[in-house]
Amino acid sequence: MEKGVVFDIKRFAVNDGPGIRTAVFLKGCPLRCQWCHNPEGLCKEIEQSTKTVKVDGVDYAMPYSIGYEITADELTKELLKDCIFMEESGGGVTFSGGEPMLQHEFLQQVLEKLHQRGIHTAVDTSGLTPWTNIESIIPFTSLFLYDLKCIDEERHRQFTGVSNDIILDNLRKLSERGVPVQIRIPVIPTFNYNDEEMSSILSFVAQLRNVVRVDLLPYHTIAQSKYERLGISNSLFEHKSLKNEELQSYFTLFQEQGVKVSIGG
Ligand code: SF4
Repeated sequence: MEKGVVFDIKRFAVNDGPGIRTAVFLKGCPLRCQWCHNPEGLCKEIEQSTKTVKVDGVDYAMPYSIGYEITADELTKELLKDCIFMEESGGGVTFSGGEPMLQHEFLQQVLEKLHQRGIHTAVDTSGLTPWTNIESIIPFTSLFLYDLKCIDEERHRQFTGVSNDIILDNLRKLSERGVPVQIRIPVIPTFNYNDEEMSSILSFVAQLRNVVRVDLLPYHTIAQSKYERLGISNSLFEHKSLKNEELQSYFTLFQEQGVKVSIGG
């Protein structure tokens, strides 16, 4: 049985789908979003790094691995330890990353096992994967958390390194199938935090039939220390975090079009 590569499991997550959830972060992503909060999840392979630990006032460089291999059975067993919290809160398991679809065979195996146990499953995806990969997990996925970053193709390419053609196309296909989708829009200065792009996103979303909610996610600099630790420079951090109230006008815009919307996850 093929093994997956996981770089984190977070318990008691409350912003990654309904109820209390366990979030699993799978390694590897084909995008390179300038605002990415999980730079340690971009490379598909297990990586080695060092962190500084202070003992009696002296700094020591401690080697550690980013990511580990695990089988679908082992991961399922680990996740089912939390099923009491999931059941009582209406929660479940969310697969995130990185881009979880990059390990779609492994993902499908775990989703199938959780689905058989009646666990609510969510997949947080950038949407950049062949449609057949998405189609194969629909029967075992209760909810897609789908990132919609911008409609302008050139700007999307400039800020994420890839075209959005496949991403938008897959989202339309999910809509045609009536599969429940919660859309997540990271609102990023110099990228999509402007009236023109937000109006384009709203026009696109208004055509979809399957959107349970849109989340406007304000840009923040919380990952800055991770970048510094990994020795990666990122000029986006010159911008301050956005406050929730700075997204209020876009919240109102979506609401006026009858779209269920929230600020934050
Ligand atoms: S899709 Fe997500 S994980 Fe991948 S680079 Fe963008 S923000 Fe990071």
